[in-house]
Amino acid sequence: MRKMPIEIVTPERKVYENEANLIIARGGDGDIGIMAGHSPVVTTLKISALRVKTDGGDHTIAVSGGFLEVKPDKVTVLAESAELPEEIDVDRASRAKERAERRVKDSKSGDIDARRAELALSRALNRLEVAKIKTGR
Ligand code: ATP
Repeated sequence: MRKMPIEIVTPERKVYENEANLIIARGGDGDIGIMAGHSPVVTTLKISALRVKTDGGDHTIAVSGGFLEVKPDKVTVLAESAELPEEIDVDRASRAKERAERRVKDSKSGDIDARRAELALSRALNRLEVAKIKTGR
């Protein structure tokens, strides 16, 4: 099977690099599945779990928004932040979740603080979900 190199980077670091058989991402316009030979495309990414199937197992990476670019020979993810399951500090994400829930409750729906709190809540919930997943299966 032909492979597709994938690289996931944030402004801080390179988070992940591998040769993928299949990449499944949640784009702004819906889920997208990418295999070698996919036509070039750029899409925004939702706060979500990005899945990569490789010969060495399936890997899941928590991504907090950003962009995914498919080029003929490579997939690049530029994420605002990204973590592998084993990098996620569950206590920190739980505290962020509680903080964000309080802020969502205390702010008027629709205002900018409510929107920020909703995004923070979404990042925390995504991290908690991804932290449950063991890689390399
Ligand atoms: P917090 O309020 O806990 O900082 P946040 O959602 O505001 O959470 P981000 O701004 O998305 O955090 O990320 C800032 C940096 O901290 C990034 O490098 C991100 O990978 C890292 N990070 C955030 N939360 C966690 C976590 N629970 N475990 C490990 N790294 C985290």
